[in-house]
Amino acid sequence: MTKQIIFAISLLITFGVFSYSINRIVRFFRFTRPAFPVREFRKRINVMLTVAFGQTKIFRRPVIGLFHALVFWGFCVIIFGSIEMVIDGLTGTGRVLIFLGPVYNIIMASGDIFALLVAISIIIFLSRRLFFHIKRFEGIEMKNISHIDANIALSIILLLMISLLTMNTGYIEYMKHTGESSVGLFPVSTVIAGFITNGKAENFRVMYETSWWVHILLIFLFANLLPYSKHFHVFLSIPNVFLSRLEPLGKLPNMDNITREVKLMLDPDTAFTASSMDVPQERFGVKDAEDASWKNYFDSLACTECGRCTAVCPANITGKKLSPRKVMMDLRARMKEKGPLMVKNGRDFNDNRSLLRDYISEEELWACTTCNACAKECPININHPTLIIDIRRYLVMEEASAPGEIKAMFNNIENNGAPWQYSAEDRMVWAKDLEINVH
Ligand code: SF4
Ligand code: SF4
Repeated sequence: MTKQIIFAISLLITFGVFSYSINRIVRFFRFTRPAFPVREFRKRINVMLTVAFGQTKIFRRPVIGLFHALVFWGFCVIIFGSIEMVIDGLTGTGRVLIFLGPVYNIIMASGDIFALLVAISIIIFLSRRLFFHIKRFEGIEMKNISHIDANIALSIILLLMISLLTMNTGYIEYMKHTGESSVGLFPVSTVIAGFITNGKAENFRVMYETSWWVHILLIFLFANLLPYSKHFHVFLSIPNVFLSRLEPLGKLPNMDNITREVKLMLDPDTAFTASSMDVPQERFGVKDAEDASWKNYFDSLACTECGRCTAVCPANITGKKLSPRKVMMDLRARMKEKGPLMVKNGRDFNDNRSLLRDYISEEELWACTTCNACAKECPININHPTLIIDIRRYLVMEEASAPGEIKAMFNNIENNGAPWQYSAEDRMVWAKDLEINVH
């Protein structure tokens, strides 16, 4: 009973702190703008199964991709064992899911095998970060804290896997020493147990109980660290893929407020009606975090900081200041800064800072070629160009600010109806002296 009470209190604290952390982040969604309607559920489930569960994009880098996929699939399998532990902890039962019969054996055996595979993968990830120079993990946006955050999360996952294998090994040995038959299959832990030549049943019981508590408390700790870590993607990557933008990458979304303005201009009768005058004038494009859409903000929260987008960005590769990963991290950081102020003082609160310029410079924004390589490469379908374009739209439409070459093109379109500097009447001048033989 004491165990149940302690467990229930730990679980309550975990849920309490987790809900508090999630609420701190989720409440900022109300300040964001609409994106696209979430329809076509069949298509979305298909994308989720291939990109999230199938880890297809991760495999573009086959070796390291495989290790990442093993960790993801391992989590999917091991979670069943964790659910069982929570039920056991609350009800005082032992291995409550045993009624699943052969399925239980498969779940336990897969969890045991994946615990080893995940541990190996995490050791490789940690070694890469600690001992090798991986260009993808560097950049001005990657501060020391980003690396510390990643290393802490990886270390906790490693400890989770070690405690799981220790728990299974202790269980097998305890049952063996008490003459009872164990339930569930544990292929890896059985091999590990084979190396143990002596010991008392009581010691193995303590080993099992201790690692049981270490494992479950680490899960609780990890769950509460995630909302403050880049590893928040453990929770958000699957929903983010489900909520992917389904249109072709190259198709830019129209701006609703511009469409409305144009329609009003084309129909003068409605242009000055009372209802049209009532429409509040919104800001064109994105200047600050609250101008971004809910999907942009969701993307920024889900970003794993893996750097795959930046590694394929032609602007970044050719030495420009732009890093698509930084754009996502900047939006997240700006919302974290301004969100609490808007909660306190309202959406219109102005702290004399903005996403544009205080976080993302014009130089970065205009370096984007809109090639969409970043969005294509991102393993969780984050779309950076939509945000970059929307900030550029703000610059052009609200501040008339653009690089000289683009301004010249705007002038030409306005004056000549084409991006070139020649008048429309002169378009055929080149053909003036041509003689064309007509047979
Ligand atoms: S769309 Fe822009 S940010 Fe993305 S890869 Fe191309 S140049 Fe880089
Ligand atoms: S935007 Fe996507 S590819 Fe880029 S760092 Fe984040 S998760 Fe990785």
